[in-house]
Amino acid sequence: MPKQTIESVDVAGKRVLVRVDFNVPIDGGAITFDRRITGALPTIHSIIDRGGRAILMAHLGRPEGKGLEEQLSLRPIAKRLSELLGKPVAFPSNDCTDDAAKAAIDAMQDGGVVLLENLRFHEGEKAGDPDFAARLASYGDIYVNDAFGTCHRTDASMVALPKAMAGKPRVVGFLVEKEIRFLHDAVTNPAKPFVVVVGGAKVSDKIGAIQRLLPQADQVVVGGAMAYTFLKALGQEVGDSRIEPDKIDIAKKIIDQAAKLGAQLHLPVDHVCSTEFAEHSGDIEVFGDKIKPGFMGLDIGPNTQGIFAGVIAKARTVVWNGPMGVFEWPAFSVGTQSVARAMAEATARGATTIVGGGDSAAAVEKFGVADKLSHVSTGGGASLAMLEGIPFEAVDLLDNA
Ligand code: ADP
Ligand code: MG
Repeated sequence: MPKQTIESVDVAGKRVLVRVDFNVPIDGGAITFDRRITGALPTIHSIIDRGGRAILMAHLGRPEGKGLEEQLSLRPIAKRLSELLGKPVAFPSNDCTDDAAKAAIDAMQDGGVVLLENLRFHEGEKAGDPDFAARLASYGDIYVNDAFGTCHRTDASMVALPKAMAGKPRVVGFLVEKEIRFLHDAVTNPAKPFVVVVGGAKVSDKIGAIQRLLPQADQVVVGGAMAYTFLKALGQEVGDSRIEPDKIDIAKKIIDQAAKLGAQLHLPVDHVCSTEFAEHSGDIEVFGDKIKPGFMGLDIGPNTQGIFAGVIAKARTVVWNGPMGVFEWPAFSVGTQSVARAMAEATARGATTIVGGGDSAAAVEKFGVADKLSHVSTGGGASLAMLEGIPFEAVDLLDNA
């Protein structure tokens, strides 16, 4: 069901409570990667440029829920946001519900921005506590969910808060709207051929998504460590590659399901292998369908790269979750890079290309193609959950378009 967006609400003079996803990596007080902050800018601008008052709520990390933990304070984010917006961002206190927070909100002018301190400094946030949510609800006239990375959760600011604001406008921001459009709508009714590319660390993480997407898929491409559980299921020699012995049966089942549904399954035909799971040590060798004992597959090989790129080249929709190898180490990054490049080329030819998953998003960012794809999800767990088709209460309860 399409959701009402912030665009459709009259925000002038109104206090707009916006749940954003500012869960960014911070190292010694410095923000090392700010895509999640820049991702929220369109929604914030839509509010303040039309004379609304933006009250931003977010969490960072996993504090204990017993008050301020200095290293998880959102203060550095207020500073960065202020630079990005070119205007002051009030950061009133180290408790999102204290008198100073309330006073700052009461003192807001139209077009102003307040960032409240880490919601998870209150244990009520993770617990979904309605009393905590009621205090936040008293701050606002309108509720906006633009925190895609948390949408699969039932934290107080995601569920109890919009519930407490029933009767007032409750809408999605542009970021969440876009995530739904790609991770749900585009893969539910994809332009064909539809290619699903999966990889990454474990089969067990991706089973739900594979099974959900299989009925729509024309081609399923499998790489990364999870490919070895599939190859093992087919009786191939995988050497010392990382397999999940207890998932061999489910891999067999997926292979059968794909055949029944007429989806063509592509597994790696060659592998870049090493004698050690390490960046710099170990002997590296490429094997075909028989990996020698003592070697483990850490990337797809050159023939596989060509095959996978060829499949992606013919697609009109591609969704990709999970790297093809240990892309963090240059010696095993080429496979992931070649898929990333094939996705960018497909996009240039008019295909819809979607990347979900935290490490996959980091990979396309690292290889410089993130801006050449239709959509790179900002959510890790949330993007996988949405690809699995799991309903999100935090989204379902918002106003329908
Ligand atoms: P995402 O976060 O995009 O969903 P995953 O978390 O499932 O992806 O997997 C990413 C991790 O999988 C990366 O850290 C990568 O190094 C690892 N990986 C990929 N291929 C292999 C492999 N062949 N052997 C071991 N680890 C691998
Ligand atoms: Mg991951």
